[in-house]
Amino acid sequence: MKDGDFPEGLSDLRTILRILAFTCDQFKAPVFEHMLLYAWQRSGYSVDLQVVHFKSANEVMFVVFNQDCSMSECENVAFVQCAHYAKFICCFHCLQPSPHLHIE
Ligand SMILES: [Zn+2]
Ligand SMILES: [Zn+2]
Repeated sequence: MKDGDFPEGLSDLRTILRILAFTCDQFKAPVFEHMLLYAWQRSGYSVDLQVVHFKSANEVMFVVFNQDCSMSECENVAFVQCAHYAKFICCFHCLQPSPHLHIE
């Protein structure tokens, strides 16, 4: 299977919903707690912890250089590094057969 080999296509509603589910789940990772607090803080809301520095999604998830996908028997090049468990994941396995989620 190749990167971007989605049966429905990237513009299909199911694929778009999978992308949204994957993205929201990634931002729930503890590593993004300070980033989200900073957004509230900069918007003028009172937050318990004053955030000065945080890691961005780019620094956490997109520091991937020619890594192989961590999923079994996958030969694709990784697209992102999972913010929850630092696994390298290709574009296909981010979304197929269902979104790569960490919902309990
Ligand atoms: Zn993961
Ligand atoms: Zn893969």
